[in-house]
Amino acid sequence: MTDLRVGLQKTTLIDYPGLVACVVFFPGCNFRCPYCHNPELVELTPREGMISIGELMQFLTKRSAVLGGVVLSGGEPLLHPVETLKELVDRIRALGLKVKIDTNGSLPDRLACLKPDYIAMDIKTSLENYPKVGAGRTEEARDLLRESIRWIIASGIPHEFRTTVAPDIITRDDIHRLIPLLKGTQAWYLTRFRPGVTLDPDYTNREPCTSGEMEEMRGMIASAGIPVYIR
Ligand code: SF4
Repeated sequence: MTDLRVGLQKTTLIDYPGLVACVVFFPGCNFRCPYCHNPELVELTPREGMISIGELMQFLTKRSAVLGGVVLSGGEPLLHPVETLKELVDRIRALGLKVKIDTNGSLPDRLACLKPDYIAMDIKTSLENYPKVGAGRTEEARDLLRESIRWIIASGIPHEFRTTVAPDIITRDDIHRLIPLLKGTQAWYLTRFRPGVTLDPDYTNREPCTSGEMEEMRGMIASAGIPVYIR
């Protein structure tokens, strides 16, 4: 099918809502979030331990009776050729499994072409501040993010938006600017940044925000009528 190699987490109970799933990690990302916890996946170069798509399909075929879904994650899975992804999605569905895509939202056309069964899109900060995560530097790039958000909300596909609340990346002002864009969503999850292995070493020991700050952001979103949860 392709010489693509991917990482595999064989089982997860938390990454596909309501289903036992596995997670497929695609290498390469077009963003550079300083707090990224998967720095080894940001470059396109496959790393040790990755498997071919043939090996992935062998695993899925064997485990299709116990799995309910497959999460395509990364990195940014949609950076890979859409024909390759489409063929993979079709083969996964032929095994009776559902497909979730985790995306940073920069490639709305590819997302719409694949029409997964569940979508999780990261919302990093207000669109104006996306350069802080190495993205959204032009109006065209910000338009693509807007388009993904609008398409996901209008699609009727089960979905969630998720935001890592990271210091110096997102503030209450950013939340305020995002609320009109996220109106109509099924769910917006806020996750507190955790120090640890990060793409930018400056973030390795950064203090996460407080529970009070998280709760304040949650309250702002909830009072706009958007279903919001702290994860
Ligand atoms: S956290 Fe940012 S840099 Fe890391 S994989 Fe996700 S979008 Fe890419």
